[in-house]
This record gives sequence, C-alpha cells and structure tokens, in this order.
Amino acid sequence: MTFHFGSYYKKFINFALLLSLSLPVFSQIDSSSTRTRTTTKVADGVYMIRHKDSPDGFPQGNTTVIIGEREVFVVDACYLPSSAKEDIAQIRQWANKPVRYLFNTHWHNDHVNGNGTYAEAFPDITIIAHFETSKQIKGYAPGIFERFPTRGAAFQQIIDSGKDPNGRVLNADEIKAYKEALAGLAPVSEEFKKIKLRMPNMTFDSELTLDIGNREIQIKYLGRGNTAGDAIVYLPKEKILIAGDLLDSPVPYLGSGYPSQHAKTLRKMAQMDFEILIPGHGNVLKGKTYLNLVADFIQTVVDEVSKAIFQIGGGPRNLEAVRQTVHKTIDFTEWKKKIVGDNKEDGNFFDGFSVQGVVTAAYAESWGR
Ligand SMILES: [Zn+2]
Repeated sequence: MTFHFGSYYKKFINFALLLSLSLPVFSQIDSSSTRTRTTTKVADGVYMIRHKDSPDGFPQGNTTVIIGEREVFVVDACYLPSSAKEDIAQIRQWANKPVRYLFNTHWHNDHVNGNGTYAEAFPDITIIAHFETSKQIKGYAPGIFERFPTRGAAFQQIIDSGKDPNGRVLNADEIKAYKEALAGLAPVSEEFKKIKLRMPNMTFDSELTLDIGNREIQIKYLGRGNTAGDAIVYLPKEKILIAGDLLDSPVPYLGSGYPSQHAKTLRKMAQMDFEILIPGHGNVLKGKTYLNLVADFIQTVVDEVSKAIFQIGGGPRNLEAVRQTVHKTIDFTEWKKKIVGDNKEDGNFFDGFSVQGVVTAAYAESWGR
C-alpha cells in the first residue's frame, strides 16, 4: 500500500510535467496504477490492451484493436515503443491482416509515442487524428525526448528535499518510490533515444466513417475536453464507444483541459447509443453511470468556480482564494466517495491531481469573462 501511495505522486509529477494474458471481460480489480499488462476481449474482433505503467512511473494509455475482414484499425499507440511492439506481436496473433489505420485520440505522449513503431511494422499505415490533435502532435512532439531528462531533475529535487512539489514532507516509502522512478528513467531514456516520431497523415474536423471490411467505424469530434482535439471512436453495430482520455477510470484524469466544454462533450457522449465504453486509462466500463457522474462533477466545479470568481474576481492573483472558496462550497470528500469509492491510492490521486487540475483549469477558462 505504501508503494501505491508513492506511485500516485510519481504519476502526479509525471502528469504535471507532461502538461508543460487475457482476462474475462469486466472481472479485474481496478486501480489508477497498473502493474500488469492485460488484454480484454470486448466483442468479437474487438480487444482492449491495458498496459502496465512505465518503469519511470508514467501511466500508459489503453490501446483498442478492431479487426475487420480486410484490415485492422488501432486506437492509440501507448507510451513506450517496447509496449507498442508487444501490442503489434499480439495483434499479429489475433489477426492475419495488416494494421491499416492508427487513430490518435489526442496528442498526449502516453497515446502517441508508439506511432513510429506501428509505421515501421506497417509501412502503408494511415495515422488519423482530429486536425487540432494533428497540429498539437506536430507542435509538441519534436524535442519531447530531449526535454525528457528534466523529469529526472524533478525527481532528484523531490528526493533531495524530501518534499513533494506542494511542500508536503514525504515519508520513507514515498521517497523510496521516487528513487525507483528515478532508476526507471534510464531504460525509458534509452528507448526514447531510438524513437522515430510519426505524425498523423490524415485529419478530419467533425466526423469520419470507415469500413475495414464488414465493420463500420465512426470517428467523431464531440467538442473540446481533456485537450482541444479529443475525438472518440464509435462502433454502431457493436454499441461500443472508445473515449480516449475524455473519460478515464477509476479516477478521472482532470489535470488540465477545458472543463466547461468537457462537461458538455461528456453529455453529448452520454446521448449516444452505446453499452460498452473503453476509457483512455483503466478497465472497460458498462453503461453510462460513471460517465454521467464525471460530467456532473465537472459541471459542479465549473459552476462553483464561476460563482467564486463573481464574488472574488479573476486574474492570476485570485486563483488560490477561489480554490479555497470552492473547497468550502463543494463537498469533494462526498464526490470522491461517489466517483472513486474507498480505494486510498485512487482517492489520493483524485484529491491531489483531479480536483486540483479541474479547479485550476476551470479558473483558467473563466477568469477573463
Ligand atoms: Zn492518457
């Protein structure tokens, strides 16, 4: 448990820096940290791969594999090229057909770093993204690996000071977890030295429908959310929706983004006719309960941040005062119980990352209006 607690902080600092076996379906115990790689058959010819966290503590996005009669469509290429390689080997076992399309749900590198690995394995591949996502990948990706060593410096500073970025004194187990993450940076750096960046070469603005052989795939942009360009994949016949990081489980990763629009985008998603939802991180979800809960939570934060700004004012000086006010007007402990349940590690991630992130982002969205 203590290691779990530490891994949340690794994830926190990793995400903060970023913003600058087959199992039966639905049977796994879930957690925001992922220690084993799992594959789940979601429907005939539809599989989800959940990757174990990178050795440096960074979470990896889910990959979904959709097999048609003619070709294969993959959603998201995860963080480590070595994991993407494992996925490709697994896909070749599932299907004797090429991956013709790779879709990037958004630009974050835990979803796109493996693009080059797919392009190397399947030279005719088309990499698809919303035009905003394509622009962001082309803007952020070059140089990302040169900037990578700064993560080591951040970990080292935390270890040396014995305090987290908020000034909280860490216990011995947490410091040990940071040391492990620091040690894990070396093999990840080695991988990143050899990485080949590949950019999307097909873009769309609102929707795109493809047929990969007796299987229709709809790609839709429903509005801004976690980033400016998040888009979803929908399989109308199978009633499956692949959400990317618009929805993550068991904890919503609300580190940044556009909360007021995110809530609306999730509402639009909830109106769609699906039964199974594959989140950007975490296990396959059934139904819309969790989706509606997260939409309600984000909307509540947006409303209360707005009210607090009306009373206190906006601008860079007032963020902390607004934060303190919404911590009085919103019962975050109750929301945590409803969304996350009793898991301590996930609760810490919710408190330290999701709540902080969504309040900050809602403030950034509203202060000038
Ligand atoms: Zn992600």
